[in-house]
Amino acid sequence: MFNLILFGPPGSGKGTQSEKLIEKYGLKHLSTGDLLRSEIARNTPLGLEAKNLMDKGQLVPDEVVIGMISSALDSNPQAKGFLFDGFPRTSAQAEALDKLLELKNATICLMVSLEVSEDELVKRLLKRGETSGRSDDTNEQVIRARIVEYHNKTAAVADYYHRFGKVKIIKGEGTIDEIFNDLCKEIDACMN
Ligand code: ADP
Repeated sequence: MFNLILFGPPGSGKGTQSEKLIEKYGLKHLSTGDLLRSEIARNTPLGLEAKNLMDKGQLVPDEVVIGMISSALDSNPQAKGFLFDGFPRTSAQAEALDKLLELKNATICLMVSLEVSEDELVKRLLKRGETSGRSDDTNEQVIRARIVEYHNKTAAVADYYHRFGKVKIIKGEGTIDEIFNDLCKEIDACMN
């Protein structure tokens, strides 16, 4: 199994690049943001709880996302590998993911981290908000709160994988294809 984490702040292009990567490498895409938005769309109790936090730009509790990822892993036993997008977002989530993968005799091969300046992130997210229908993309204060959560809680996840020598940093500014090529180079190097 080839398991990959696509890492980076909100607006760094994880969703865009994920679509291209899963197609090229045949990986199963697991985006906790998408899974949460599908709970919200179905009006589940979990969705209602998550929406409150997401609309404030805060993270949802670790147990909630770890549970969602655990069931997604179990329901895709035939997957060639997984692309994790927006997960893990805290050190506790990273440790839980390692344990879940270990149960399947699998591991994270690589974390690719997209780096984008804060001004560019805010600009991209406000632009996405014009069409995405995502309430967390329309308000600059909520966008800034998400970036603060990223620095306070999520950036440490890169340190966690860095200890195992698994992190590669990619410049997330440039054309979509340039960034995709840089990602593929790192992935190919790790696969071979
Ligand atoms: P973005 O990275 O662009 O902010 P996402 O779709 O990945 O968008 O996430 C949207 C929101 O969903 C986050 O602001 C957070 O509230 C919640 N969320 C997504 N993934 C996680 C996670 N792994 N842990 C906690 N909260 C999460």
